[in-house]
Formats: sequence, structure tokens, C-alpha cells
Amino acid sequence: MDYILSTNNLTKRYGKQNALDNVSIHIKKGDIYGLIGKNGAGKTTLLRIISGLADATSGEYSVFGRNPQEMKGLQSRIGVLVENPGIYPDMTAYQNVRTKCLALGIRDKNVPNELLKLVNLSYTGKKPAGKFSLGMRQRLGMAMALAGNPDIVILDEPINGLDPEGIIEVREMIIKLNHELGITFIISSHILEELSKTATVFGIINNGAMVEEITAEKLAEKCESRIELMTDDAAKACTVLEEMGFTNYKVLENGFINIYEQLERTGDITMELALKGVRTTHISIANKSLEEYYVELVGGNGGNKNA
Ligand code: ATP
Repeated sequence: MDYILSTNNLTKRYGKQNALDNVSIHIKKGDIYGLIGKNGAGKTTLLRIISGLADATSGEYSVFGRNPQEMKGLQSRIGVLVENPGIYPDMTAYQNVRTKCLALGIRDKNVPNELLKLVNLSYTGKKPAGKFSLGMRQRLGMAMALAGNPDIVILDEPINGLDPEGIIEVREMIIKLNHELGITFIISSHILEELSKTATVFGIINNGAMVEEITAEKLAEKCESRIELMTDDAAKACTVLEEMGFTNYKVLENGFINIYEQLERTGDITMELALKGVRTTHISIANKSLEEYYVELVGGNGGNKNA
């Protein structure tokens, strides 16, 4: 399999602490790769290394099939918005993007306008960036990251601190750029539910280690995982379920019965319960949230030793 970006056992040590511990990630062209982890999990460290902003203690990574030493001249193919977007507060949106373009050797005066249009910031005129809302600054940072037509854009916590409207704007923009321009995104977040609306692949990182890489499709399969059943007699319902051959179920304190197998048999269950005089008051297939899946995977507080 050819990856546009991959790492092999990347490790970053700070003193005795492993901020990253043998992390391997695999990103295909066109992916929106969601890097999930609690605060201190190692997301920024990983993104800084693959952005060329920091060195690993050991391990390798490759971008476009090349190792970092062979990346000369290809830097502009990676757009980076990690930590401070490097916005000059006294400059307008246009001037900020133009400055970034010039740094990349792009002299065409129209390019900044095109980039600002892409992120819906064409209307800001003479307003200095220092007076922008956080969401606008985030989008300006993204326009700057998009200078040079990158194939890959790396965004560290792009929705951190945004209001709901700002979150939707950034999400829609990422999806649009991915669909229309085929840009591969790597996005970190600790807001799991939010990332689940955008990402096509997830890398779940905990205490510096990669716990699981999983496609959105597989994750959805794993999360669509139980029948939630409510009846007027939980004890009797359990007897009926046993008679029907169900063994993998759990009775919750609130009277709900969660059944983790044979999800296609909801019709059979209600029919059989009715025949045995048990009334079904609720039955549905419930999706586990990404948050629940994550907590199950890494434990209680996200298994975060830094929490
Ligand atoms: P957050 O969402 O809080 O930014 P993160 O997942 O991005 O978390 P990192 O910033 O990568 O996590 O940090 C991973 C670990 O490495 C943390 O325990 C952090 O304290 C440590 N760390 C990061 N940078 C340094 C540094 N320059 N010196 C020492 N320790 C560091």
C-alpha cells in the first residue's frame, strides 16, 4: 500500500518521559486523518515532527514516499497550522496571506484573494487581523496554510476555542477542500464527536502510543453495537431472551436491557416477548458514541497519566 504520509516507530523523549512512543501512522492520499487523544497524549509532538518543526529521538517518517532529507523543494506541498498560525495582527487578511505567499515565492497578487475566497474571508477589507474573531483567525491561518497548493494540510486542534458556528464553518471548509481539491488532511482534536463528523480515518493516541488506527467505516460498524430494549418486566424478558438463545446481554439499573449480538432480530424479540405476555415499551439499535468507544479502548479518564 502506498501512503502519502507514514511514520515508523517514531519516538520523542523529553528527559525520561516518552512524549511519543514508537508511533506508526499510515495516511493515504485523500484521507481526512483524525488524530485523537486527550491533552498531553502526544498529538502536537507528532504533528510538529511530521511538519518538520521538531526532530524525533528515533524512528522515521516519510512524506510522498520520501524521507525528510529528500524533501527539499517539496515543503510547500505541506500546509501547516500547528500552534500559533503566525498571523500579524496589524496586517489585513490579504496582507497576511500575501506575506506568506511571498515567503513561498508566489508573487501573483491574485493568489491571496483566491485563498481568502476559499476560506470565506473575502469580505474583511481593511480590518486588521488582530480584530478578527477566533474563528476568522483560524480560517485566516488555514488560508495561509493553503498557500502553495499543498497536497497535505496539517491542522493542530483547529476548532479549539471556537463557538458552534465557527466549528461548523471550519468543518465544512475541511470537507469542501478535501472533496473539491483532493487535499489530504491530518487533524488533531480531543473533541472526539466533532472529529467523527469529518474524519475518514482515525488514529487513537494515548500516553504517547498509538492505540488503534481505524477507518470511519470500521468504527461505525464497531459502534453500531447493541439493541436497547425496555419492557414492563425485565426479569421475565431475560428468561425469554435466554430461551431465544441470547447470552450476550446486560440488564442496566434503569431497567434497559442491552443486547450485544444478533442485532437483526429486533422483530423476533418483540414478537416473542408479546407471545410470553411481556410488553415492549422501547426497542432500538443504539450506536455507541465515539467518546464511549474511546473510553472503552483507553480506559476511564482516557488513560491519561497527565490528566
Ligand atoms: P495538548 O492537546 O494538551 O496539546 P498533546 O496531545 O498535543 O496535548 P503534546 O503537546 O504532544 O500533547 O505533549 C505530549 C507530552 O510531552 C506531554 O506530557 C507534554 O508535557 C510533553 N512535552 C511536550 N513538549 C515538551 C517540551 N518541549 N519539553 C518537555 N516536555 C514536553
